[in-house]
Parts: sequence; C-alpha cells; structure tokens
Amino acid sequence: MNGLTVRETGKGKGVFAGRDFRKGEEIMEFRGNLITFDELPKPYNMDDDHYVQIGPNLLMGPSGGLDDLFNHSCEPNSYLRITGRKAVLIALRDMGKGEEITWDYSLSMNKESSWYKMTCRCGSRNCRKVISDFSRLPDDVKNRYIRLGVVPEYVLKEAKIVKKASR
Ligand SMILES: [Zn+2]
Repeated sequence: MNGLTVRETGKGKGVFAGRDFRKGEEIMEFRGNLITFDELPKPYNMDDDHYVQIGPNLLMGPSGGLDDLFNHSCEPNSYLRITGRKAVLIALRDMGKGEEITWDYSLSMNKESSWYKMTCRCGSRNCRKVISDFSRLPDDVKNRYIRLGVVPEYVLKEAKIVKKASR
C-alpha cells in the first residue's frame, strides 16, 4: 500500500506512515467480509479476531492486508470514515513520516458492541485503560469527537446527547 509500512511495536505489529500525510487525507480503505453480529466467531477472541463494527448490525472482518494491523489509540491521529458499507481511514491531523497511524476503536462501536472490552496499552497521556463502546467514553471525550465530526451516524444517533461542553 502506498505510503504505509508495517513495523513491530511493543504491542505487536503496527502501521506507520511511510510519508507525510495531510489532515483529511485518505490513508486506506478497509476491506473485508461483511457479517452481522450473529455471525461473529463464538467465543470471540479479543487478540485474534479482528472485526470492526461499521453499521448498526454490520461488521467488517479481517482482509489479511494492512488494514488489519492499525492499532488503537486513545489519542489517535486518524479515524474511520464510515459511509454505508464503506470504511476509509482518514488522517485527523497532519502526520509526519515515521509516525504510527492509529485510530480510536471505540468510535465505531455502538451499544451492540457493549460486550467488547479490551485492555488498552496505547501509552497515551489520556489512555482510558479499557477499549469499549462509544457510550462508555467520558463525556469530554465524546464531545470532542462529536465536535470533530468523526462519529459514525449510527453511533451518534444513540449516543446520549451531551451537555454543551465547557472548554
Ligand atoms: Zn489507551
């Protein structure tokens, strides 16, 4: 894939910028089989099963490509723009060559994913320690993402509308 490299990190493989990316630029389209929640592997293995929720009852499976390897961060530099059955990773800000590209997994998960809980080791200053669905995010984090316009429609719809954020 153009402009991306895979490297080992302290927490497994990760994807890194092989060149500079501009804010708003498309990094990569995610591809993989689409399934419903009923079709998820049971029991679900948090380490090995890489499914991304992209709709109220729609998940995208692993593709075997780089898109499976982007790590989560509680302070991400990209987000998944979900439109219909399409998911494209977009730069949230300018990024320099060599930076690890991460997104916040909680952003695509509505309450259907409330069973999902993974320990976070992203190491960011504001690490939430646990990755779970959007409804469990702290209000200030929800507000920030809503303001940025990076919350998918089906998540936004049921997200508790949060009081006006005081800066
Ligand atoms: Zn974290």
